[in-house]
Amino acid sequence: MFGSKVIKTKEELNLSKLKSGEVHRMHMHLTDNSLGVPWRVPIVVIKGAHQGPVLGLTAALHGNELNGISNIFKLIEEVDPSKLNGSLVLLPISNVPGYLMNQREFSDGFDLNRIMPGSSKGATSSLYAYHFTTKIISKMNYLLDLHTASHGRVNSLYIRADLDIEETRTLAYLQNPQIIVKKHDEEGTLRSWANGNGIHAITIEIGNANTFQNALIHETHDGILNTLRYLEMIEGEVEDMIADATVCDRSFWIYSNKGGIVDVFPDLADFVKKGEVIARVYDVFGQVKEEVVADMSGVVIGKNVRPNCDAGTRILHLGVSIIEPESENIPGHDNFEES
Ligand SMILES: [Zn+2]
Repeated sequence: MFGSKVIKTKEELNLSKLKSGEVHRMHMHLTDNSLGVPWRVPIVVIKGAHQGPVLGLTAALHGNELNGISNIFKLIEEVDPSKLNGSLVLLPISNVPGYLMNQREFSDGFDLNRIMPGSSKGATSSLYAYHFTTKIISKMNYLLDLHTASHGRVNSLYIRADLDIEETRTLAYLQNPQIIVKKHDEEGTLRSWANGNGIHAITIEIGNANTFQNALIHETHDGILNTLRYLEMIEGEVEDMIADATVCDRSFWIYSNKGGIVDVFPDLADFVKKGEVIARVYDVFGQVKEEVVADMSGVVIGKNVRPNCDAGTRILHLGVSIIEPESENIPGHDNFEES
């Protein structure tokens, strides 16, 4: 019962040709590496027995962000194609070279989630992005893009979505997040390209890089199943998932000014008050060099957990619920952090 069949390599994803009521596994040829060997993305299609929408899930677009892989495997185990309406297009490893090198970026150092949709005549990452979007993502009606925090930082379970648009707001509210951050789509992200092309997409940030965190994976799974129920792909009652979620108008990182040994105090999803000391930077002799203070009140979305920090390290990712006009363009604040 274990072991896998030989999986074929395809040049295109033709959903209408796949047999209904079955699970299909394939490699999709996107571009070639320096051996002249294809970079092939693994795809699992659960083609429902009945008509319905195409929901895509992408994981590890940043090659070391792995929790989403487990979420996709859970879906494969749980969804019965004979009872499914529509199709699930599942990409457990979206950035194949990055995954092999256990790194966020593509093999040439570019971040795939900044260069979407790539170009048919660009650099190797750009070619990969181009074929990834045109051959695969363009076949979807909805997309959940599964990410995690970067290495050395930890994240709560949170959603980035454009809440001004009804479809993406609904997708965000169907998940089971601790926090939702209102985000207009940043240029170059997969989410932005998808939403610009009629594919309703949100980003789900699930905990930390380089690990499986079962509790967060389980919470995310509940939200994904809820999405399937809402889209009437599976049976069951849609639940109101955002009763306990904090909705933020925006978010930004607070940086250290000094380099040294950093201790960040609040826990994830804690509320901090304006003026509160959120971190201390020590020199190597144990003397305090800097106290980092929250300049706005808000909720902790993510935090740095790596103590050895250069000056100008991101310390704490704060989500704020009320836009205070004087807080726009605070020096050192990056409002466009996308993990
Ligand atoms: Zn990411």
